[in-house]
Amino acid sequence: MIFSDLRHGNPQEDFNMGKLNFFLIPLGQDHPIEEKLRWARLLYEEIGKELGNDLIFKGLLEDYKKRIDNTWIAMKESGVVKECTLCATVDGGSCCGAGIENKFDCIELLINLFLNIDFPDSPFDPTGCFFLGERGCLLKARHVICVNFMCKRLYSQITEEKIKMVQRAMEKETEAAFILEEYIKHWLARHLSKE
Ligand code: SF4
Ligand code: SF4
Repeated sequence: MIFSDLRHGNPQEDFNMGKLNFFLIPLGQDHPIEEKLRWARLLYEEIGKELGNDLIFKGLLEDYKKRIDNTWIAMKESGVVKECTLCATVDGGSCCGAGIENKFDCIELLINLFLNIDFPDSPFDPTGCFFLGERGCLLKARHVICVNFMCKRLYSQITEEKIKMVQRAMEKETEAAFILEEYIKHWLARHLSKE
């Protein structure tokens, strides 16, 4: 089997070969979402327990969870959540368009599995992002472009002071996500075969 066949084939076959190879993991955005979802699930099954017991990983994951919560607190306190809810439910607006799911890589999806997120089998709204559910985003670990996005409506309805408070929380969340993702990649590189 040639290398490209392995990358785009069924990863379960690779696992059944008894060796999970670091270089076969589809890191980065440039892979179909189905492939990234498959790999995230398989990585979670294969190394979830061992990585989950790693003390540094545990600490980074806890820190990330707190920062995600803090962003949501800041968004609620500032009125961002209220404005977005009005936009989505009354005005038919949305910024979660189809294709944004392609920005994720399989490590970000893997983190969502550690946060007990269950991925949908198909999109709730075919014109929307694959991860958009009936009541909003289904993910806990969102992509940096989702976390940081502020539209004109928000800038016009929320005071500058509150926008800055939300942006500070967003920045801390995305920093924590970056550190965690990098740690996971290094952990995988140290623990998986590279031959
Ligand atoms: S960010 Fe803007 S476009 Fe998106 S839901 Fe909120 S108000 Fe609507
Ligand atoms: S916030 Fe969630 S549903 Fe919206 S674009 Fe991002 S991942 Fe998709």
